[in-house]
Amino acid sequence: MENQLQLYNTLSRKKEVFKPIVPGRVGMYVCGPTVYGKAHLGHARPAITFDLLFRYLQHLGYKVRYVRNITDVGHLANDADEGEDKIAKKAKLDELEPMEVVQIYTNDYHKNMTLLNVLPPSIEPRASGHIIEQIETVKKILASGYAYESKGSVYFDVEKFAMENQYGQLSGRKIEDLISNTRELDGQDEKHSSLDFAIWKKAQPEHIMRWPSPWSDGFPGWHLECTAMSARYLGETFDIHGGGMDLMFPHHEAEIAQSKAANGHDSANYWVHNNMITLNGQKMGKSLGNAISLDEFFAGTHPLLDQPYSPMTIRFFMLQAHYRSTLDFSNEALQAAEKGLKRLFAAVKTLFSIEASAQSTVTERVVELHKNCFEAMDDDLNSPIAIAHLFDGVKMINSIKDGKEQISKADLDILRKLYYVFIFEIFGLYMEEKAEAGNSETLSNVVDLLLNLRMEAKANKDWATSDKIRNELTKLGFEIKDTKDGFSWELKK
Ligand code: ZN
Repeated sequence: MENQLQLYNTLSRKKEVFKPIVPGRVGMYVCGPTVYGKAHLGHARPAITFDLLFRYLQHLGYKVRYVRNITDVGHLANDADEGEDKIAKKAKLDELEPMEVVQIYTNDYHKNMTLLNVLPPSIEPRASGHIIEQIETVKKILASGYAYESKGSVYFDVEKFAMENQYGQLSGRKIEDLISNTRELDGQDEKHSSLDFAIWKKAQPEHIMRWPSPWSDGFPGWHLECTAMSARYLGETFDIHGGGMDLMFPHHEAEIAQSKAANGHDSANYWVHNNMITLNGQKMGKSLGNAISLDEFFAGTHPLLDQPYSPMTIRFFMLQAHYRSTLDFSNEALQAAEKGLKRLFAAVKTLFSIEASAQSTVTERVVELHKNCFEAMDDDLNSPIAIAHLFDGVKMINSIKDGKEQISKADLDILRKLYYVFIFEIFGLYMEEKAEAGNSETLSNVVDLLLNLRMEAKANKDWATSDKIRNELTKLGFEIKDTKDGFSWELKK
């Protein structure tokens, strides 16, 4: 299959023409959420970034196997293999079974991803369901000599690995700097060096989530699950590995080292990372009091929000920035995105209502627009540039509507298909129900009809009917005003 898609590969630090291992097929693995809290804005960005890539690859005709995991065990409170398991901690706090915690927040994540129109992955494996694969991977790493057992736990020997292989390639960190920046271990530590990370951890007596292994009753290290599960479903080498930039070190660096140790080669050909989100210029975090859940965004209930923002406003706002740029959320920026999206949808409606002429004054511009939009996407998924081109096209569409330009049937077909494919299929946007209903002519006629009946009832002094119509419409979200010569109404959010 021929295509011009270029992706920025974090490993080589440059854009490369995308060539899959098997022609026509793509294997893609993306690190999913650790499910111990409500889905928040930080979850939405990688989900939407890789959904865009998933959709675009499919548009290009690839058959994509997209694997996105759920971390439900082994993610400890800090990166130094210390502290409680995040899920076990939440379970204790809420007096739940760890797997209840996992189910509650997996459901919450899925619900929010559906609202954001993020397509489900082809496979969504859970770490706890792949303990056997992880134990097998630990055995392979031990056999390679790049890991050691210590008091029932197994650690990856980073310094030994780095002497014979490249380590730190993704994040650009140098092993010498890492060594000089690490803290001294006290004699009691199980690790040889604080750079080493656990691939199997012996469970303390109070630790609930535990499985038998050749080394101890314990649990896998967090980095290990992605190595084991990607190999299980995509093979030892696959096309694309994605995730947020915050996962580059140590998580992805550890994954690369584990794959090389276990299988003799790196796992993925293209490493793709989305950049981070800030809120009013600040990093987001629970401790900063500005971690806003997606539920709060959609309902507008967080004190930092001026109003609710719909899932499509959030999705469109994210698509208006390139995935490798940081993205700052503010009320002003979101309100601008909301307006922009309305304008784009209005143009789509116009586009499907205008009529073709015998002549076309826009042929060249239609061809150009088509080319520009796809070129932008082929250039490392440059969605903001593609959106800017679609907005240029809005001016043309409105000129045709106003009779200042003419469009032929052939050009109109191209233009309609372009907007349809980009907005609904590639960008995954949809017209949200209420906004849609508020614009719908049929609904508008029905509301007018009901309010005319109410006027008749009032004229007949049938107050019961009049009040009933008013109350029922209010319940449905309509705001009704009596005016001098009749009524006016509006559909509130
Ligand atoms: Zn991962």
